Amino acid sequence: MNRLEIDWTRCDGHGLCATLLPDDVVLDEWGFPVLRGREITRGEVTNARRAVLACPALALRLSRGAEGDL
Ligand code: SF4
Repeated sequence: MNRLEIDWTRCDGHGLCATLLPDDVVLDEWGFPVLRGREITRGEVTNARRAVLACPALALRLSRGAEGDL
């Protein structure tokens, strides 16, 4: 099951992920991302990977649960 994760030790709350993945990320009142926690479907993986690569703090990850990172 593919899901987004955030490394809170890195995230600096610029919110780019919410712009790129509005179905998966919303911003809280301080501008930090809140993951909706939904599964990233096979058809959405390419867009999710683009967002992961675009994160300026390298804080966004796409994981496959116990099977490790994608
Ligand atoms: S793009 Fe990266 S640094 Fe910016 S809010 Fe999202 S996870 Fe945090």
